Parts: sequence; C-alpha cells; structure tokens
Amino acid sequence: MSGPTTGGWPPLREELRGIEPYGAPQLDVPVQLNVNENPYGPSPACVADIATAVAQAAVTLNRYPDREFTALRTALAAYLSKDATASIAPEQVWAANGSNEVMLQLLQAFGGPGRTAVSFAPTYSMYPEYARDTNTRWVAGRRAEDFALDLDAARDLVKTERPSVILLPSPNNPTGTALPPEAVGVLCEAAGDGDTNGIVVVDEAYGEFRRTGVPSALELLPSYRNLVVTRTMSKAFAGAGLRLGYLAAAPEICDAIRVVRLPYHLSAVTQAVALAALRHAPELLGKVDDLRRERDALVDWLRAEEYDVADSDANFVLFGRFADRHAVWQGLLDRGVLIRETGPDGWLRVSVGTPEEMAAFRAALTDVDGERA
Ligand SMILES: *Cc1c(COP(=O)(O)O)cnc(C)c1O
Repeated sequence: MSGPTTGGWPPLREELRGIEPYGAPQLDVPVQLNVNENPYGPSPACVADIATAVAQAAVTLNRYPDREFTALRTALAAYLSKDATASIAPEQVWAANGSNEVMLQLLQAFGGPGRTAVSFAPTYSMYPEYARDTNTRWVAGRRAEDFALDLDAARDLVKTERPSVILLPSPNNPTGTALPPEAVGVLCEAAGDGDTNGIVVVDEAYGEFRRTGVPSALELLPSYRNLVVTRTMSKAFAGAGLRLGYLAAAPEICDAIRVVRLPYHLSAVTQAVALAALRHAPELLGKVDDLRRERDALVDWLRAEEYDVADSDANFVLFGRFADRHAVWQGLLDRGVLIRETGPDGWLRVSVGTPEEMAAFRAALTDVDGERA
C-alpha cells in the first residue's frame, strides 16, 4: 500500500488512512437528545461568578498557568470526598481537558506498543481510538445479554490477555447500566496480581446520575492501588463546553501521568471556570436530581409502552428493539427530535432533557411507532 515512502499524501500513518473522525451528527433541530448533554445551562448567579473568575484570570494571561492546578485539584478532591469512604487528597486527583483527554493520557502512560487495553462491549466508542492512537493493542470482551458483566468470563479474559489498562464505564455508555462494586473488585484483583500490574479505569462520566443506593467506585479506592475513577464536568455540571475531566487514584498514578501531559495543558481560563462552577455544585446537582426523576419516569413510560429498556443509572436510556432502528431514528428527526442511533443493533439511545423535551420525544415516538405490533 502507499506509505510515506511510496508517495502517499498526506503522509498519514498507514492505519489511520480512510478513517472518519469520531462525532455524532450535530444537526440544528428543536429537540436535541443525542449526546447526553445537560439540558439546563448554569444559573445567572453561576454565569456571573464564572464571568468574574475569567476577568480575574485575564489579568495575568501573559503568564503560564499553574502547571499543577493546585487550587482546582484541592476543590475537586473536596468534591469527590463526599462520594468516598476515606477522604481524597489533592495528590490523588488529576485533571485535563475533558475526561477523554484524561483517558488518552492514561493510555499514553500505561498503554503503548506491546501492551493491551481491554473493555467489554457494548462500551464507549472512543476507547478503541485511544488504543489506536497510542499503539496499544485493543481487545473487546462481551457483556451478557442484559448488559451486565459475566464476571467469570471477564476474569478469564483478563488472565489470558494480561491488559495493562482495563476501561470500564459505569454507568456504561450506551447501555446506562452501572457495575456492582464486586465486579470492580474482581477485575482490580485479576488485573493487579502477578507481573501484569494492570490498572482498572472506572469511567464514571455519569456517576452523579446513578440511582439511590448504587455506590460509586470511589468507595473502593482505599482497597485497590490499581483503581482509577474518572469523572467529568461535561454532564452533571452542565459543562460540556468547558472541557474539564478528572480522576481520582493513587498519587503514584497521578505522578506517572505528569510525565506524558503537555506543559500547561489546563489553561488559566479553564482552571478559573472549573473552580467557579464547583462553587455552584449544590445548585447544579439539584438539576441532576430533576434529571434523575425525569429519567426514571421515561423508563417507566417506555416499559408501559412495552419497549425493552435497559436499567439506567445515567442521563440517557437505551430502548428498543426495532426491526429497522434507522427508520425510527429518521422518523423522530423528521418530527424535530434528534436522538442517537448507537448501541447493539435494534436499540436506540435517548438523552434525558427537560420535561417539555421529553413530552416532545414521547409524542414523536408514539406517532412514528404507532404501527408497531
Ligand atoms: C460523555 C462521556 C465522557 C465525557 O467526556 P468529556 O471528554 O469529559 O466530555 C466520558 N466517558 C463516557 C463514557 C461518556 O459518555
């Protein structure tokens, strides 16, 4: 094939040729329920606080930002400690421009040539891309029919493949299902024993949306030195545009990432905005409670309409099954409602929006799928 030496242009890496960049269609329709954004923007008080913080940061923009983002790490550690059994220290926290960047950094530090990353499908579609971009071998196991992890099979896969990184979204995207703590424990033990020394990354991008009584993997941090829990401000904090993701792990893991991060990767503006948003956590998390109630009502409605619905601990719901899911997706779009055609064949994913948006979704689905037997 054509490579840089045989005249290919531009001289892209062989394995990247012909690949489309990742991304859901960004269509301008009235009801957008396709990328799990928070439908509620920040309050006027939060917006004012952010504006003041940015103005203050602007005064010193001639200087590089705090490379160790100490104030932000301290605030994130205090926030995370509320979900943990033992309080989390700033040295246990790392942040980057979205949790996507955090996870890419994890693969840069702990993956690489000769190493393997593992997840269990259906899973987040970005994971294989981090593996590809870091020349890490990618292996996907399967989840069970009900999207839970078959623990024996998962443990066996880890024993055979000896991954240096295991990526586990919980709640999972696109299914919405959370992992029980036993599953995380079993995989931490399987990955961490002997000469493998693999890390287990529990991606809790939707952690704040979990149902009452569902624990966070943060509670397990004191038990497993190879456990990493990632979070993001994109969903619960209504900050998808901010680009701030973070993790909690053993301090040695945070130190290792410092080797691969770009210098000053978190801008002074990002740090200031994230700190201001964190000061408004109670108000933002109040909206999360509204969305959790709306999510539970949506699951109940879909089940009453006799759809198959995966249990959801996230701000979206996977439902089906359709002989022709694309036709249903298109029918909804024709009625001004954009959802996501993703997940196993026959299923569709809808993000939870405002009560008005969900009413529009229900009306459109009833209309589109009226003929269903
Ligand atoms: C939305 C999402 C994220 C968050 O990505 P950011 O880069 O923080 O915006 C991470 N993991 C999963 C599984 C997601 O769905």
